[in-house]
Amino acid sequence: MSSSRYDIAIIGAGMVGGALASLLSRSGFSVALVEAQEPQPFDTEADVGLRVSAVSPGSAAVLQQAGAWESISAQRCRPYRRMQVEDGVELEPLIFDAPVFNLERLGTIIENALVQWSLWQGVSSGGLVDIYCPDTLDEVEPAADHNRVSLKSGKSISASLVVGADGAASRVRKIAGIRQDYTAYNQHGLVAVVTKQKPNPGVAWQRFSPGGPLAFLPLADGRSSIVWTRPSIEAERLLALDKPAFLTGLDSASSGWLGRVEDCGPRAAFPLSMRLSDSYVARRTVLMGDAAHVIHPLAGQGVNLGFADAAALTESLIGARRAGEDIGSARVLQHYDRWRRAESEAMAFGMHALHGLFNGDGLLPFRRIGLALVKRSWTVKDRFLQQAAGTGKNAPKLASGQTLQELMHA
Ligand SMILES: Cc1cc2nc3c(=O)[nH]c(=O)nc-3n(C[C@H](O)[C@H](O)[C@H](O)COP(=O)(O)OP(=O)(O)OC[C@H]3O[C@@H](n4cnc5c(N)ncnc54)[C@H](O)[C@@H]3O)c2cc1C
Repeated sequence: MSSSRYDIAIIGAGMVGGALASLLSRSGFSVALVEAQEPQPFDTEADVGLRVSAVSPGSAAVLQQAGAWESISAQRCRPYRRMQVEDGVELEPLIFDAPVFNLERLGTIIENALVQWSLWQGVSSGGLVDIYCPDTLDEVEPAADHNRVSLKSGKSISASLVVGADGAASRVRKIAGIRQDYTAYNQHGLVAVVTKQKPNPGVAWQRFSPGGPLAFLPLADGRSSIVWTRPSIEAERLLALDKPAFLTGLDSASSGWLGRVEDCGPRAAFPLSMRLSDSYVARRTVLMGDAAHVIHPLAGQGVNLGFADAAALTESLIGARRAGEDIGSARVLQHYDRWRRAESEAMAFGMHALHGLFNGDGLLPFRRIGLALVKRSWTVKDRFLQQAAGTGKNAPKLASGQTLQELMHA
């Protein structure tokens, strides 16, 4: 059977795979994108979806270069300029205000479905990417200077590089034989759209308490999207409660911030885990996003790491092409692996440590000291914020404001 040939075959058009497809095709690479389920058109008339992400300024810069930011901004999202963290013990909350750090915003709350749809629309209407959808990956087989990718439909494609952006249960990772460390937190993240007595003024509020944090993220219409981390058994109980009982529980957990909880929409809960792959690369194969790493969502960094992966790979491949190198060579891939694994592991272990510190009463004195230190040290606050903003010292150039044109003509 004949097989179409590409520079890069991306498996998975979630937020991360979609961003990568757009960045690479806009950089002049030939790209195939394989996705199991066609994304649904985003409908601004429909109610806000349950899955939202806090998207950092660095990720917004990447999405801008991927051509999706205008569509996202024009539809439905909410910037936040203040982050307020409480631990229920210290009286004064820890506050980050964007203007104090010379930032226009600390981040933007966006529905996952809108990010995915905006990217999908861009790549499917531009004609620059060949889309295989609905279709799923079956096998990847090595050949001399490429990998041959077989799809469940019976189609076959070949590419100098195969990218697994196919989520936590990545088939690409399994085929490549890459091992993963898996830690179950025995917690669920319960999500819902919630109305408080007063509208959310654009603050990402989070309160740590034994069992897990509760976050209120601002939405465009003044409501908040919550992520309430609870031990799995309790999350099940909270899901099963009738609405008035659930609102009463949420009211007491949110300690009167913005007044009473008045209403909430449907609820859902997701099991939380940390998954770290031993390597993000194999022969002519790269992993990114949740396929490579899954982290605790307590600081909303999971997909931000994925966007940084996409930006980093784009930067590496543009550099390799300029140097006349094979984009699937071991050197190019190892550079990506070292760069992104160091960043993601540091973030994952940071989240893991925070989870441990706040999860239980035993370490209360350490918690107090930790929070007090962060509050008083501008250096710590500044570093923390730069990491959270996705613009720290190891950030890809596209996350720090460079354009694709600048990268290509550097
Ligand atoms: C409760 C909760 C709250 C969160 N909040 C935040 C937040 O505020 N900020 C943040 O940065 N992150 C957050 N995250 C993390 C974030 O949701 C994930 O990191 C992100 O969704 C991962 O995106 P992805 O594109 O890597 O993977 P996925 O979204 O899993 O996409 C994978 C895609 O691949 C396709 N696919 C899978 N297998 C195949 C195959 N064999 N063939 C073809 N296609 C395939 C799937 O259909 C899918 O479209 C949160 C997570 C949770 C659980």
